[in-house]
Amino acid sequence: MKDIGEFARLRLAQLPTPLHRLDNISLALKKNVYIKRDDLTGLGLGGNKVRKLEYLLADAKNCGSDVVITTGGAQSNHAMLTAACCNKLGLGAVLVLMGRGVTEKKGNLILDDILGAPVSFVDSDDYADVYAEMDRIAGEFSAQGKTPYLIPVGGSVPRGSLGYVECMRETSVQAKDMGVSFGHVICTAGSGGTLAGTTLGAAIYMPEAQVYGVTVGEGDFERITAELIDGTARLMGVRTDAWPRILPYYGEGYAIPSAEGNAAMRLMARSEGIILDPVYTGKMFAGLLELAKNGAFDDPGDLLIIHTGGAGGVFALDIE
Ligand SMILES: *Cc1c(COP(=O)(O)O)cnc(C)c1O
Repeated sequence: MKDIGEFARLRLAQLPTPLHRLDNISLALKKNVYIKRDDLTGLGLGGNKVRKLEYLLADAKNCGSDVVITTGGAQSNHAMLTAACCNKLGLGAVLVLMGRGVTEKKGNLILDDILGAPVSFVDSDDYADVYAEMDRIAGEFSAQGKTPYLIPVGGSVPRGSLGYVECMRETSVQAKDMGVSFGHVICTAGSGGTLAGTTLGAAIYMPEAQVYGVTVGEGDFERITAELIDGTARLMGVRTDAWPRILPYYGEGYAIPSAEGNAAMRLMARSEGIILDPVYTGKMFAGLLELAKNGAFDDPGDLLIIHTGGAGGVFALDIE
């Protein structure tokens, strides 16, 4: 097995991110609940994508690239954070976003503007069309003598997932220092790289923990997660049968706030003063509350929530 420390990586995030107990939520759920503050990774408005970009942009640099092209939804946290990280590294960033009719300059689109990243919208529901447009733009850059580097949606390729293998290593060290042993780790699954890396990383560094992934949109999450765990394990030269519990919790669809997700956001904000987001972490916390109600955590193992960020989205969506 390759050690996670052997992979090319650029230092972009403020690490380690804080790990702390949620006293009021713990009291309410009669369970020790902790939170890993990956909303505080330090660039843009913070979030999980910075950890993936540490590995992806190291690869871009090693490939001699000078411009990065990536994609996501109109309110993509990943695209915004790619622009932020590229600025820090002196790389160009171009964002090709799936418009889906939501192109009003709010939330992350304001940040993309401030960060100076050119944004273009593709009016399609099919990522095949978006990738075709990215290829076309890459061709233009190549014709100008530039070397583009393409990052797929969410940075969810095995190299990006290494960021969450590393996050689990970091968390296991913090947990040991605090005398905590996690029986459960929960995060969301959007493009899947975070869940895959967390699952593999937990299997390596916190084998006693069961990992849960709450989905936030429609999609073949079983297949995507399996492919990403497998690809990341191959990259590390490790055999694994690690598998998370995947919970289908997406309400009406991706980036559509749900009543349960919004209620969960309010509960977190009103009991702990921590702001979740309506697209990912609010729905994740709603899924957690549902699991808790059904007795999934009725054992002595402590529970860890990974706060993956998403602050920009709070200012873009109408929350009922
Ligand atoms: C992208 C994102 C996720 C999901 O991560 P994936 O690796 O795409 O599954 C979760 N939370 C926030 C805030 C995100 O921006």
